This record gives sequence, structure tokens and C-alpha cells, in this order.
Amino acid sequence: MQELVGALRSYAWGSRTALAQLCGRPVPSAHPEAELWFGAHPADPARVKDGDGRRSLLDVVSADPVRELGAVADTFGARLPFLLKILAAEEPLSLQAHPSSAQARVGFERENRSGIPVDSPLRNYRDDSHKPELVVALDRFEALAGFRDPHRTVELLRALAVPGLDVYAELLAAQPDSAGLRTLFTTWITLPAAALSTLLPAVLEGCVRYLSGKGPREFSAEVRTALELAEVYPGDAGVLAALLLNRLTLEPGQGLYLDAGNLHAYLHGVGVEIMANSDNVLRGGLTPKHVDVPELLRVLDFEPIDLPVIEPELDPDGGARYRTPAPEFALCRFDLTADAEPIVLADAGPGIVLCTAGTVELSQDGRTLTVECGSAAWISAADSEIKARAVGGAAQLFSACVGREN
Ligand SMILES: [Zn+2]
Repeated sequence: MQELVGALRSYAWGSRTALAQLCGRPVPSAHPEAELWFGAHPADPARVKDGDGRRSLLDVVSADPVRELGAVADTFGARLPFLLKILAAEEPLSLQAHPSSAQARVGFERENRSGIPVDSPLRNYRDDSHKPELVVALDRFEALAGFRDPHRTVELLRALAVPGLDVYAELLAAQPDSAGLRTLFTTWITLPAAALSTLLPAVLEGCVRYLSGKGPREFSAEVRTALELAEVYPGDAGVLAALLLNRLTLEPGQGLYLDAGNLHAYLHGVGVEIMANSDNVLRGGLTPKHVDVPELLRVLDFEPIDLPVIEPELDPDGGARYRTPAPEFALCRFDLTADAEPIVLADAGPGIVLCTAGTVELSQDGRTLTVECGSAAWISAADSEIKARAVGGAAQLFSACVGREN
């Protein structure tokens, strides 16, 4: 059990207030702060406080994987199989999807053979792993995820009353299934510049007209999102594609699970995110980063889905468990009340305990460790029975470990 200091990542879409506020630093921060990484990812490992010094968690795990990871090393090798983050999106992230394990193995091998350096920005596949991910909202969290029921999308497109959209709405109405969605998405995302420069402004005008119209506006959230995306990424075909996706708002505590092939874009909010320890992202737009539409089309799952929201299940130990099929990770949330008896984190190691509100005191065999909001603790496989209690008021913590049930 050791204190773990997260690695702060600054991206343009980050927030100048959310992470600083959470960690008790002055606001606004000097740079937009997007992510706080708690993991052993080679790109930016968290640091373990070791006496007066600090060591990277990657070094700690690699130096003694049997002690640190225990039986997990037999399944996943000598590395932590997940990455835990706090994410703060002030502006939308790219439109993206992640590959399946089989697609990642083939893609990684192919890019290796063609000699693209593994750290090149042109690289799609930086490793041979899939990247299932789960985000749990800390405040209201807005996202686009998965293709909407095509019948509803046809209604949305017709409601915009844009003559240039008629042909596309009728195309989808004639084939309201995954094949129709594939055709429409592919057409839009590969639209020649000249056609896009006519269609997109007309659609945006339709969006403005729709919002200012009379009567109930059932698609107002979807339409407003399209306008906001166009503001940040003018002329981007991803704005049209966004009209095909489920628009969802997570309330605090709700989760969103994204499996391979699910097209998504986080729009706004603060959340705890856990994912397989991979960097494999296929982008389709809404970003200045590398976009590879043909490869994205290869991995996308066009099957329409309902809102992929995950409600946590109450565990006997008082935790709220987010159940997903991912073998690499499991995530549990604990809301600790002030002055309550300590709870027992029975299976916390190997894993990370992250404090997201208040202050938590961890104890083990008479030893204690105080974890402030925005900080975490590394729990090795050798650490047994950790107890946790809130100090000086209510607190919240997340326990991230490997998905044992799978
Ligand atoms: Zn993603």
C-alpha cells in the first residue's frame, strides 16, 4: 500500500478548472488540464511515493511482477492490464472507435511491417491489444455513443427540413438497419469537399431553424450538439456523422461502457475512466489528430444500439460495482459517510484506490495512509485486507482492479 501521484496530461479539450478544483489547486490552471493518469502505461506512468523519493509505477511493477501483480501476471504478463484516469472534457473529444483484439493484432502487425515508427502520430495501432473502456460520471457527463435506431434517425433528419438531406433520409428509410447505417455513414464521412461545403451549411441552418421553431423540440439535444461540434470543428464531416449517434447524458454515478467497434465521442464533463492498457484509437473526425477513415470503417460496428448506460449494482460490501465484460478491469465505487465504521476492501490488490471526494484513510495491519481528493494508492497483490474510512466529512473512492470474474 503506497501513495500514488497521478500524471497530469494537458490537451486542448481539457478544463482549466475541473481537475485543479478536484485536487485543491488554484483555478484557473495555467493550461487546459484534460486527464490525470493513474497507471503503469509506458507513455506516462503514475509515481509511487517511496520514502522521500518517487518511483514510476511502471518500474515498481516491472522490478517484481510476481510480488506486485501475483496471479495476474500469469494471465496478462508482467504489466498492469488496465489504465485508470480522471478525465475532464471542457470541449468535445474526437469521433472514435477502438478495435477488437483480433483487429488490433492484425493492424499492429501490418503497421510494423510497413515500418511506421510505433510513436509516429500517423500510427493507428500502437500495441496489439483491444481497448474496452468504461467511464463513470462524477458530474453530468455528455457523450455520443453507438448508432441510434435508424427509424428515429430518419425522423430527426426529416425534422430538420433540409431539402439536401431528403435523399439521405429516404436512403435510410428504405433500409433502416445496420447496412443502411453503414451506407449513410460511409457516404457522409467520405463526401467530396465540394458536396460537403454545400450540404453541411444547409444542415446547420436547418438545425438553427429547428431550434427556433414552435412546438415540442424532441431532438433539441441532438441538434444543439451538432451546432456545437460545427463551432469547434467547422467544415468537419464528423458533424454530420454525429447526427446518427445516440446523444446521452450520464448523471453522477452512471457509467458508459464502450466495447470494440462502438463509435463514440465524449462531449463534456468530468468522469473516472478505466480501460485496457492500450492506445489503439481509430479516429473519424472532430480532431486535429490523425484520422484514418478506411481503417475506422473496417472496425466499426453499425448495429444500432440503445443507450449503453451502466447502472452500478450494489455489492454486499457496500460498494457500487460497474459490471462489464472486459477481463482487464473491474471498477467499484464507495460513498463513505462521515464517522462511519471503516469498510473492508477485500480484493483491492493488485489495483488502485482513487479518492474523488473528501479525504480517505486507508489502513492495513496498523499502518495508515491518508489519500486526499485527486490522489490514489497502489495496492500490490501482496497487500491483504485494506480498510478505508472517510476523514473529516464524507468521501468517495473508486477501487480499480483486474476483472476476476472473467
Ligand atoms: Zn474511446
